[in-house]
Amino acid sequence: MDILEKAFKTHSLNRDEIISLLKSEDKSLFSVADKVREKYKGNEVHLRGLIEFSNICKRTCKYCGLRGENEHLDRYRLSKEEIIDFARKGSEYGYKTVVMQSGEDEVFTTELLCEIIKEVKKFDLAITLSIGEKTFDEYKAYKCAGADRFLLRIETTDENLYHQMHPKMSLENRKRCLKDLQTLGYETGSGCLVGLPNQTIESLADDILYFKENDFDMLGVGPFIPNPNTPLAQAKGGDFWLSLRVMAIIRLLLPDINIPATTAMETLNPNGRIIALQSGANVVMPNITEGDYRKKYEIYPGKICVSDTPNHCRHCIEGKITSISRTISKTYGFRN
Ligand code: SAH
Repeated sequence: MDILEKAFKTHSLNRDEIISLLKSEDKSLFSVADKVREKYKGNEVHLRGLIEFSNICKRTCKYCGLRGENEHLDRYRLSKEEIIDFARKGSEYGYKTVVMQSGEDEVFTTELLCEIIKEVKKFDLAITLSIGEKTFDEYKAYKCAGADRFLLRIETTDENLYHQMHPKMSLENRKRCLKDLQTLGYETGSGCLVGLPNQTIESLADDILYFKENDFDMLGVGPFIPNPNTPLAQAKGGDFWLSLRVMAIIRLLLPDINIPATTAMETLNPNGRIIALQSGANVVMPNITEGDYRKKYEIYPGKICVSDTPNHCRHCIEGKITSISRTISKTYGFRN
């Protein structure tokens, strides 16, 4: 049986088969992933409104513009009131989920975050947090306050590469965080970067196997885009099509999960999110942060929509989605 046919029927592939799909240039991978998406997730696209609430970070991830050692970034943190206000407006634009993302900013104590979560919950929204590595008890407190989901990309499962990219952090602890989140009953999202320096095709295959083994509920994949204000300024950066291949293979192996068409993909290809939605993705995360903050949340250069308003983004993405005969979901969009 041909590899794509096997994947379509069994949703299981071995390492060599994944490697061969990653190395191939055959675009039928994308149409098969699109079919799997349609069969398991239908034609609805879930929109998640993204609030980038602080760009202050104690970590020093080599690839990320928010890294604590980057002195060229104008730092900000939103007040509790601003975050709640952006979430309220998000629910008024029709979003059913808000994603609260930030650097690892310790001013947002567990207590403060829980107060914010409780307020945001009053707007009848599902809440996704994306705030990095915490202890079991911290994750537990956010869950009790009302958080539903958590995004924490593993970034890479390659031990050496992980170590090179993340000074003073460990792959083991990141895996521990993801396990804790699953134990606590979060819908748990992970994912990886594609195109990190010295990353191999084989290691991407291992990332995909790790995702399958852990049965994550959401998986986000994006190309690494070099940021001039980081130690990786001169690096080559990731390839749009290889990122798309990783994403499509994930759809084949985890047919019923939520997969976003990522902003980084659109940054490398002006039609990137639509191509992703036609290659296995079923989620888009429009930015609902207002004003100048968007520009300042500069993880990588060239980020799309930094001068747009939440209202503009909402209508823009709706137009794109309906133009490919897909509909916008009115549900919370949990995995099941
Ligand atoms: N502090 C949070 C949120 C991180 S930012 C956390 O640790 O999860 C969200 C994602 O941006 C990261 O998980 C990473 O995969 C991605 N990212 C960071 N730098 C990037 C770059 N230069 N190019 C593309 N994506 C990047």
